[in-house]
Amino acid sequence: MNQDWQGALVRQLLVLLVVCLLIGLITGEYAWALVIGLAGYLGWTLHQMRRLQQWLKRSQPDDPPPDGHGPWGDIFDNLYQMQRRDQRLRSQLQSVIDRVQGSTTALKDAVIMLDSEGNLEWWNPAAERLLGLKRPQDAGHPVSNLVRHPSFKEYFDSGRHDEPLELASPVNDRLWLQITITRYGNSEHLMVVRDITRLHLLEQMRKDFVANVSHELRTPLTVIAGYLETMLEHTDEMPSRWPRALNQMNQQAGRMQHLLNDLLLLAKLEATNPPNNSQPVNITALLQSIKSDAQALSADQNHNIHLEADPILLLKGSESELRSAFSNLIFNAVKYTPSEGEVRIRWWCNEYGAHLAVQDSGIGIEAKHLPRLTERFYRVDSSRASNTGGTGLGLAIVKHVLLRHQGRLDVDSTPGKGSIFTCHFPLSQVTVR
Ligand code: ADP
Repeated sequence: MNQDWQGALVRQLLVLLVVCLLIGLITGEYAWALVIGLAGYLGWTLHQMRRLQQWLKRSQPDDPPPDGHGPWGDIFDNLYQMQRRDQRLRSQLQSVIDRVQGSTTALKDAVIMLDSEGNLEWWNPAAERLLGLKRPQDAGHPVSNLVRHPSFKEYFDSGRHDEPLELASPVNDRLWLQITITRYGNSEHLMVVRDITRLHLLEQMRKDFVANVSHELRTPLTVIAGYLETMLEHTDEMPSRWPRALNQMNQQAGRMQHLLNDLLLLAKLEATNPPNNSQPVNITALLQSIKSDAQALSADQNHNIHLEADPILLLKGSESELRSAFSNLIFNAVKYTPSEGEVRIRWWCNEYGAHLAVQDSGIGIEAKHLPRLTERFYRVDSSRASNTGGTGLGLAIVKHVLLRHQGRLDVDSTPGKGSIFTCHFPLSQVTVR
């Protein structure tokens, strides 16, 4: 095509030159003949350019290009072909976009496209129903101005979107939504919102059921345990078979009470708002008191319990919740460490935050159990756990308490050598005295 065009141009110029030379030969004025010929050619070229300009500015995109001769004919044809190709591609692309938009319009889940700054670009009708977005006035506005929920703003700004966020719908607080955010392309965000009201209600029913059952069982169990204790005070008046049975009943009643208390504590941790941060907790004093309880638990097993704590470091949160979490970790270290073993407790701070490590020289845990350790009722070895009087809820409580204090639990363990359970808290939770 390019060579055709060049050939046509060269042919045209040659013809012009020959015509000018002939006129020059007839008139004897070669220079004038050449000047007039070139001026005519320039005028014709300008005329073609004006036609091209008019055609490019035409109102009907399908209008064919003007007829042209020589190289201008090729230029018009090539431009026309290019435009037709673009139009075809554009209509193919438009039909793909229409199909994608049609399918997302039919979705029950909300799909929202945000730019890299978090401003709304596009959303489907479900987003209007679930989040109350309004078209067209909300387009271009920051999503956190429209979904006005402190936890949503915090979740969006944090940039950590591995886990979905659950919250009540801003338009109807009986609707529960699960929000997932994925980054794509040039740091744009794709936000998908699912209605999980049914799941949420089921979960709520489960929590209420466990809390109610635990609460209702507490009173009868207290009465049974009370009578058992009284009866155990009078074992000398009973037939010799009874004291052993009564002792076992008393032990199991104690276990059940412990289990109910743990279940009630978990229910409370799930049902209430995170603790108020106004009163920082003196962790060193708390650890000293747990250490003496651990010493009493160890009793004649004679564990060597060390405490190294930075007394100026305070932690914002609830003292009773932190006591439950830390005592679970420290008592576990004693329970799962043989007599005369070492338990080391450290409380310190560095540039990443504050940390509490509970290290023991006990039986350790195989790596395959570590990911499931904080699940409710998960035990590495149930026969061993029942010997230690454990409920399998201790580490679930630790996980919940840490979540409520923006902390996280790390477990490192070597079977036969011991374990380190470390709680990490962000600097925002720490104050110094
Ligand atoms: P439990 O009440 O049974 O101790 P936890 O939730 O506190 O329940 O712990 C779950 C399981 O993790 C325990 O059954 C035990 O097998 C294991 N575990 C917890 N702490 C330790 C530890 N320090 N050393 C070895 N195993 C541990």
